[in-house]
Amino acid sequence: MSATAGNQENADMATSYGLGYRVSDDRNAARVIETPVVRFGSGQSPRVLFIAGIHGDEPEGPAACIKLSRILAELSPADFSGSVAIVPFANRLAIEQGRRTNPADSRDLNRCFGKPVLTESHVLAQTIETELMAWADIIVDLHSGGRGYSFVSHLEWIGGEGAAPGGRVRELMDCFGYDTIATVSDMGGGGSFDDRAMELGKTLSFSTETNGATINARDIDTVLWGLYGVLRKSGCLSSQVHDADWQSRRNEAKRILYMGAESYVTASTDGFFIPAVKLSDALQPGDLIGEIVSTSTLESTLVTSPIAGVLMAHPASATVRHGDCVAVVCAVIGKKGA
Ligand SMILES: [Zn+2]
Repeated sequence: MSATAGNQENADMATSYGLGYRVSDDRNAARVIETPVVRFGSGQSPRVLFIAGIHGDEPEGPAACIKLSRILAELSPADFSGSVAIVPFANRLAIEQGRRTNPADSRDLNRCFGKPVLTESHVLAQTIETELMAWADIIVDLHSGGRGYSFVSHLEWIGGEGAAPGGRVRELMDCFGYDTIATVSDMGGGGSFDDRAMELGKTLSFSTETNGATINARDIDTVLWGLYGVLRKSGCLSSQVHDADWQSRRNEAKRILYMGAESYVTASTDGFFIPAVKLSDALQPGDLIGEIVSTSTLESTLVTSPIAGVLMAHPASATVRHGDCVAVVCAVIGKKGA
């Protein structure tokens, strides 16, 4: 364990260390991969965990975590009444290669939580669960559209059909500047970090999903100040030094959406996807979302909306395969004041 960079006064409070697991690859049979963790505060509740980089092609969350760590490193022990653990690069090997999956075993780490331990990603998931998830009272798991999707930036909460986040969860979600909150049900198969956190009774767990098709300073700042707000609102951070930065970006969510099994629209053929509508557009059942044009015959296959709702995502790249999810349409289950 070693002290992080920061002022001398807080050197006994801020610690950084590596959470290790072993992988076997072509060059070494037992290489240790250490995932950096930075902690601030006394160790007492509220204990807040910010985890990013479970997918290695989603850079907004990691960037926000690094910037937040620097802000917190400048504060003194008296500024914290709780504890925070920050993990910018949860799936370090995937981050280093800019991949969604872990190069050690080509698995999606976010399908490995709470599952039998078969390969390296399961070991990493188990380590994260026992060392970090179990420790925390409040968890924010940071994701984005990655290389695969353009998303309407939003917050997600595993609540199931028809459920809207309320109480403490909603209060913390409103620390962010997002207009949209989505209640999500299991995509099938389980194993996600958020599913597992909810199973373990971490009911304050939610994710941010920024538009991952491009990385930009605005998205990073939105996440950064949202995380800061969670520390302030939860009572973890007592310092008001940066409150003006947070308050100026804060925004109560204006709509609650439901992302269920019927939200995912599947490509029925390979081809070149041409969108017909914009992200955030309202759709009725049967409305045109886009078309998939065959690269060999130029034949067009229409993609239509299965439900009434809002277009939340489409592919970041036009090249799609049969079976790919080419659109996410979410039903509106609540609006501001409703
Ligand atoms: Zn992700």
